[in-house]
Amino acid sequence: MTGMPAHEHVETYDTTLRDGSQQVGLQFTVADKLRVTRLLDDLGVDVIEGGWPGSNPKDAEYFARAAELPWRHATLAAFGATRRPGRGVDDDPNLNALLDSKAPIVTLVGKSWDLHVTEALRTTLDENLAMVADSVAHLVAAGRRATFDAEHFFDGHAADQAYALAVLQAAVDAGADTVVLCDTNGGSLPTGVARVVREVRGALPAGIRVGVHFHDDSACAVANSLVAVEAGARHVQGAANGYGERCGNADLFAIVAGLELKAGLQLLPADRLAALTTTAHAIAELANLPPDHRQPYVGAAAFATKAGLHASAIARRADAYSHVDPGRVGNKARVLVSELAGRSNVLAKAGELGLDLEADPALGARVLDRVKELEHRGYAFEVADASFELLARRESGSFQPPFTLEGYRVLVERKAEGSGEPRGGAPVGREGSGEPQGGAPDDRDGSDLSEATVRLVVDGERVLAVGEGVGPVHALDQALRRALAPRHPELKDVQLVDFKVRILDGRAGTRAVTRVLVTSADPDAEWTTVGVSDDIVTASWEALADGIHYGLLRATQPVRVA
Ligand SMILES: [Zn+2]
Repeated sequence: MTGMPAHEHVETYDTTLRDGSQQVGLQFTVADKLRVTRLLDDLGVDVIEGGWPGSNPKDAEYFARAAELPWRHATLAAFGATRRPGRGVDDDPNLNALLDSKAPIVTLVGKSWDLHVTEALRTTLDENLAMVADSVAHLVAAGRRATFDAEHFFDGHAADQAYALAVLQAAVDAGADTVVLCDTNGGSLPTGVARVVREVRGALPAGIRVGVHFHDDSACAVANSLVAVEAGARHVQGAANGYGERCGNADLFAIVAGLELKAGLQLLPADRLAALTTTAHAIAELANLPPDHRQPYVGAAAFATKAGLHASAIARRADAYSHVDPGRVGNKARVLVSELAGRSNVLAKAGELGLDLEADPALGARVLDRVKELEHRGYAFEVADASFELLARRESGSFQPPFTLEGYRVLVERKAEGSGEPRGGAPVGREGSGEPQGGAPDDRDGSDLSEATVRLVVDGERVLAVGEGVGPVHALDQALRRALAPRHPELKDVQLVDFKVRILDGRAGTRAVTRVLVTSADPDAEWTTVGVSDDIVTASWEALADGIHYGLLRATQPVRVA
């Protein structure tokens, strides 16, 4: 790495748990927040902003429990506002809550745009300076490290540069060691950001760390962060996966990857960058938000291609087609299987899974024909890696199914709202594609308790089992597991984690069909399977059964889908 002196280290400051959780639909429990904290600490960010202890009891509880975590790298910060206009600091409940949080770093937000001082705070410009100075001095006197977030700084700087700088100076004079230029409404563009950061660097004493905090309303939050660091910022704030209100905060993961891989800076402890992808996905799970496949660096599609012409070349020389080596951020190159792609794509995908179809051209041709036929019927193997692998293994004759289906029957009982049927325990809790969800437990009204009976042949023996669940798919899943449990106890580690239903338009005059994608997981990996039928239960069964087949295959032999 570069020989950057320690005081030039770019401090990474994560605000997922405060600003990031303003995102619509994102709600962390205290337990979730503690788990996110541990993930970010393990990744090696420098500062984790845990919340606003003065704003709600949940955050106060978080700070009490966060103090007991085994911190490895990061320092905890608490966020709050400066004192109220015309009042003292000693009886300010917000400042008291910050002190009670015991967080070693306190981040105070204050106004730096004159318009907001007079219109929103309804006080004088001088009183605002005093509020900043008094509040920072109060916390520094109590032994805390003070960071000052200058709200709407870029707009304030444009409106009245001298006043915006005077606010920063007031914080510095009172003892803040870091002043953060916040683009609170997210409208700034990189050229202006670089200029303002340089001006602020020049105007403040050399030992003061200048930081930045961007929102993505102009789709420039990451770009603004990168140019700000180039212009001298040494503290950069962002949120995991770009979570945040409106268009989100700057994606801290893309900032870190960009600065480490492209600017030669070291932000995380050595070798931790490779944990970026798993950290991003784990936080998405805790946030209960589907990971964004197109997210730079860490998304499942970030290094994926279905360009058939290029597939075989990519398999040989991934570096010729990727902007960075995906392994550096813990991601991997993927070849997507698509009817558009043709033979080289299918062969490359099989090779990625450890199946050498090139050695057997007749088998390769059969697999390709089968993929084309199924994709024409509505199957999608682009994400359903596990179904593709099972298809190839079936065609090659190397797959011995651990069970075969004789038949199943599903009863759906719909009870009126308030009939009190117990709920819960369902394995799928994630928001689906917005289409009808046969098995999701979040059915909007009343109870929908289903019962499924499956008849299987397992190792030559007929097995019958009954399962109950919230919706027909959950019931089928339960029955299938019950039927297999005696012979396959390893299935207890395989969970159904996501279920998506899509109604496909009829093609070439045929009826509409339903495509179901099921994602299953064991402690080491996730895999996706697909089912298609004109009936949702049949499509779901197919995807479920493939998911279980694949889980059993993983348990008995090494397979490569992750
Ligand atoms: Zn913000």
